[in-house]
Amino acid sequence: MIPFVDLKTQYLSIKDEIDTAVMKVLESTQFVLGNEVKALEEEFAHYCNADIGIAVNTGTSALHLALLAAGIGAGDEVITVPFTFVATTAAICYTGATPVFVDINPVSYTIDVTQIEKAITERTKAILPVHLYGQPADMEPIMEIARRHGLTVIEDAAQAHGAEYKGQRVGSIGDIGCFSFYPGKNLGAYGEGGMAVTNNPEYAHTMRMLRDWGQERRYHHVLKGYNYRMDGIQGAILRVKLRYIEGWTEARRTHAAQYDQLLANSDVSIPAVMPYSRHVYHVYAVRTSQRECLQQKLNEQGIQTGIHYPIPVHLQAAYSDLGYQYGDFPHSESAAREELSLPMYAELSTAQITTVSNIVVQVLNIYFINTLLETTDA
Ligand SMILES: *Cc1c(COP(=O)(O)O)cnc(C)c1O
Repeated sequence: MIPFVDLKTQYLSIKDEIDTAVMKVLESTQFVLGNEVKALEEEFAHYCNADIGIAVNTGTSALHLALLAAGIGAGDEVITVPFTFVATTAAICYTGATPVFVDINPVSYTIDVTQIEKAITERTKAILPVHLYGQPADMEPIMEIARRHGLTVIEDAAQAHGAEYKGQRVGSIGDIGCFSFYPGKNLGAYGEGGMAVTNNPEYAHTMRMLRDWGQERRYHHVLKGYNYRMDGIQGAILRVKLRYIEGWTEARRTHAAQYDQLLANSDVSIPAVMPYSRHVYHVYAVRTSQRECLQQKLNEQGIQTGIHYPIPVHLQAAYSDLGYQYGDFPHSESAAREELSLPMYAELSTAQITTVSNIVVQVLNIYFINTLLETTDA
């Protein structure tokens, strides 16, 4: 069996350090925020090349607080993509603002920068690009458009820890960058976690207050806040794992290169790496018109795969009130029909990658040969 992700193998490889770090928190009784979380904020901000980090309970909370810190609320519009995990859109809606979708570039799967300006209205306050699958959105034109129209840029970097755009770490390019530490993300907690990073001390101050009931000092609630604090245990675990992330990221990149090579002449299209990118492969996404058949055959051979994501947000029932229809974002819709995520994690072996790739090649060869024969018969 080849799982889609394997959290156990990674835990076992660092078990002693993790167990010691958790025990230390138990002894200290700093269960919420505390010294470990504070140290993580400094170390993770430094990793992103940003000045300040604000640790929270989820990536979604990081996005929510980033939007609030930027002053976004009811009556405002935020430009983002429909081809993302639903949390991106949900966070915009939490503030009372309206998400306005722009289609993706079908090659990079990130926001089509040539279509952003058409979506800007008097109500637009921010652009929220998503670094989908671990590949940065095309940030230079995004920043240029934002500066020209006076918009805030909030990066959804939930899948892109350590990804780089023209050599600059994501999260520190826009005004605020938001990360998730959900267990399956490239840097995963053993529970929920998230972080916002920024170079803007005012935004940081607001987000710090909002995550802890809007308090400036204890019981002095200057803002209507939330309970979005990070657990001490997660902070300690993430500090240990942050020391390994570069090695794990390089392993993912090596695995991706191996998949690229083995699948180069197959009937799937392999993920494109944009010239500006350091792609960190949260997901290794291939495309094929025969996705369902391929997924089923892989599953029969014990190989787990994923689909990220089968339904774009503009076609989700919960967001039908936004008024979009099928056909509005053709590139998002066809990616949702054709994308398949192959197993990807640092601990994958060369043999496993070879096995997966060989089966992908075989299944599609057989499929297309059969199609060819049928056509010839007819
Ligand atoms: C995971 C994810 C989020 C949300 O993060 P959580 O920690 O699960 O709340 C937001 N955006 C994207 C693109 C994600 O992949």
